Order: sequence, then C-alpha cells, then structure tokens
Amino acid sequence: MGKLKTLRPRVQTMDVRIVKPMVIADNRMTGYKLQQRRMRLWRHNPCCVKCGRVTEYPHGFELDHIVPLYLGGEDADGNCQILCNGPEGCHGKKTRDDMNQLK
Ligand SMILES: [Zn+2]
Repeated sequence: MGKLKTLRPRVQTMDVRIVKPMVIADNRMTGYKLQQRRMRLWRHNPCCVKCGRVTEYPHGFELDHIVPLYLGGEDADGNCQILCNGPEGCHGKKTRDDMNQLK
C-alpha cells in the first residue's frame, strides 16, 4: 500500500476507503502451498472418501475440509479429504444435499 504523505482535508472520505483493505484475515492456504498439499494428499490416496472412485489429478477432485473452516476446522492436511469432482461428483452432490435439506 502506498504511503500517504499529505492528507488534504477535502479528500478525507476517500482516505477511509484507501486505508481499510488488507485487514481481512484469511489463513486459508493458497497458491503453490495449496497445490503441494493437493498433490501430497492425492498421492497418499487418490480415492474419493465417499464413493471410493479413483480420482484424476489435478481436476478430478476437490480438497474438502472435514470440519469446515467456518466451524473452527483446522486448515491442515489432517482435516482435508478428497471428494471426486464433476457434475455427478461427490463434492457437488454434497453441496446439493446441503441445499435440499432446506426444502
Ligand atoms: Zn465420490
């Protein structure tokens, strides 16, 4: 973020918007590290934990958090499981089932 050397009184409302970002904390793993984890877990066991189907790397599966992060689940290998992907995949099915429970 650039440094504000001068604060002119007229643009104070804009300064709030400039200073605010970057506060949002997201400890979720991203990028290279996430790819490394995906490969590590997939090589350990490439089968979907729900249906047992062997998944393809890298697009045939989703890394699912056993205990969701929003429920305090840890973003660690031990809290991740492989779910097969795609229209008939378990990952999508899990999401649809969650939504169907609302009906
Ligand atoms: Zn599956």
